[in-house]
Amino acid sequence: MSIFQKATIALARSPVAGRAMRTMAARSTLARRFVGGADVDEAVRTAARLREAHGIRASLFYLGEYVADRGAIEHNVNQAIGACGALAAAGLDVHVSVDPTAIGYMHSDALGEDNARRIGMAARGSAGKGGDWMVLDMEDSGIRDRTCALHRNLLVAGIPAGLTLQARRRRTPEDLAWAIRQRTSLRLVKGAFPERALDHAGRARIDQAYLDAASIMLSREARESGFYPVFGTHDDRLAGAIMELARDRGWPASGFEFEMLYGVRPDWQLALRALGYNVRVYLPFGADWWPYAIRRVGENPRNAWLLARSLTAD
Ligand code: FAD
Repeated sequence: MSIFQKATIALARSPVAGRAMRTMAARSTLARRFVGGADVDEAVRTAARLREAHGIRASLFYLGEYVADRGAIEHNVNQAIGACGALAAAGLDVHVSVDPTAIGYMHSDALGEDNARRIGMAARGSAGKGGDWMVLDMEDSGIRDRTCALHRNLLVAGIPAGLTLQARRRRTPEDLAWAIRQRTSLRLVKGAFPERALDHAGRARIDQAYLDAASIMLSREARESGFYPVFGTHDDRLAGAIMELARDRGWPASGFEFEMLYGVRPDWQLALRALGYNVRVYLPFGADWWPYAIRRVGENPRNAWLLARSLTAD
């Protein structure tokens, strides 16, 4: 991890910086770039615009993570449920992403699972089409096993839940082996929570692990089980290799998708659409944008100018 990235992570965690940014500007340059709306209505309008103009789909994510307060947890859950209803009303796929630590896992597993069921049922009940999912994000290693267990419990209960897995973790292939035999969706990402003891070492090894996992997700067994692979990456080199693999294995372009973060590499999102691939953006909304947006800045030093503009005029 670069010094620049470490510095932005410290800024993301700083309550002082967060408060200062929120009072400085309701929606700064930074927020507009990476956040799809201040509230659910604005987020759905953004999603509808992307769908209509470019055929790009969206997964709505209400900003807020690592929440222990019961009132704040209930608020987050209601926002996710509200997003399901608003997406259905707009005729869009009902697709929401959820952090387990935002919906009750900081309080108790029972509360977290109960709330995940409520959101999953809202996703299913809103429209009931094949493209409707609640996808569980994968956070740090402290909650990994509980997130995987939650995913299994939801599937057993018939709730359309997907899961995010991190290629950097050495044990990801074990989790994949089970999931590809289910009618579920897995979003493969490189992983944003490095932990030396648990991870592959170095960028080249992580990229190779990503491709190894992609190969499992695009296996014949996965295709036959109705599994839906999602590749969450902005890395065009990896995407190129995945397209080739999918072609060789006989997967139609409609059988899987690429997912990117809203505001990151929009040029590449459009290029993939032009090639006929399904593209979705992970579209955050809400007022608590600072930790999320500053982490995006840290992922690419070229984004530093956005931070500079946010701190000056808007
Ligand atoms: P990189 O090698 O980091 O980037 C590839 C290219 O994209 C480079 O050219 C790079 O400069 C450019 N790029 C990457 N990020 C940015 C940026 N912010 N601004 C401008 N250019 C950029 N991680 C988790 O640990 N858990 C999750 O649940 C999770 N969910 C995710 C969901 C989605 C849809 C996506 C896309 C990512 C998610 N991540 C998650 C983050 C992920 O783990 C990576 O940290 C992040 O996507 C960067 O990796 P990359 O594959 O894009 O490759």
